[in-house]
Amino acid sequence: MKITFLGTGGGRFATISQKRMTGGFRIDDVDGKNYHIDPGPGALVRSYQFGIQPTSLDGIFVSHAHTDHYTDVEVLIEAMTRGMTKENGVVIGSRSVFEGFQKWGPCVSKYHMGKSDKLILGPNKTKMLGNTRIKGTKTIHGDPTCVGFQIQTNDLAISYTSDTKYFDKLHKYHKNADILIGSVIRPGSKSIKGHMCTANFSKLVEEIQPKLAIMTHFGFKMLSENPANESKSIREKTGIRTLAAFDGMKIEINNNDPNLINVVKIKNKYTTSDKNVSPKVNPVSKDQQTFLDKGNINRNTFVKDFSYKNDNKKY
Ligand SMILES: [Zn+2]
Ligand SMILES: [Zn+2]
Repeated sequence: MKITFLGTGGGRFATISQKRMTGGFRIDDVDGKNYHIDPGPGALVRSYQFGIQPTSLDGIFVSHAHTDHYTDVEVLIEAMTRGMTKENGVVIGSRSVFEGFQKWGPCVSKYHMGKSDKLILGPNKTKMLGNTRIKGTKTIHGDPTCVGFQIQTNDLAISYTSDTKYFDKLHKYHKNADILIGSVIRPGSKSIKGHMCTANFSKLVEEIQPKLAIMTHFGFKMLSENPANESKSIREKTGIRTLAAFDGMKIEINNNDPNLINVVKIKNKYTTSDKNVSPKVNPVSKDQQTFLDKGNINRNTFVKDFSYKNDNKKY
């Protein structure tokens, strides 16, 4: 089994600036099936950028109706169904994603649901996909129907919190996870509404005792600190191997022994020197770099620094 991170940014400012990518992650070879989790903006492009075929998908999971989680879902459905010509795959997600809930969603058109199965997941709702069991996990987040999951095969269990605040019973939903993936948007011990900070995740890791914990979905403040230092602090506190994900990180897991894990950095095909291989990527402009380098950014400075007048400048 492999887990590949096609984006480790989260929250609206990390997303619209693309300070980190926001393509979500893939879990490949789950009993022979491949799943894309939370395909935010860029999921399709990032797949090709890191040499992964979107057409090899068997399922797409969308945890809730926030743009950093759902933007590319329809185009990935088109990849999964070979341009809507083939019945294939399953789309799994929150109620808001399919039906809309209050002001959230829907995120997938009826047309795009025409060729795939649909599975609306809620807390503790379970469903077998072949030999794989998928269970919804509770969240407390802006979209009230937001759902995390636990995927259980015969060999191991992978849990994903999605966006949620820390709450007392959160660990119960992710019990027995061998690998725990958490959305940890803020560093240190200052969480924001509906999200976890490092201290929250540390507590969760301690309660669940996974073999491996992975932090992802980093917001601006987290990125202005070093996420790797945050994961190190969790490792030191809990004694559990904890990684801060980076864009293009691949985790290769030995199914027979989840303790045997290989961390690989995937070659980014779009930064190759071979001119024939890729679309040319514009270098980051000085203005953009200044913006990206700034820590402690808030909404006002963001709007000021990233105003669209920069678009006219030649990068
Ligand atoms: Zn998010
Ligand atoms: Zn969210």
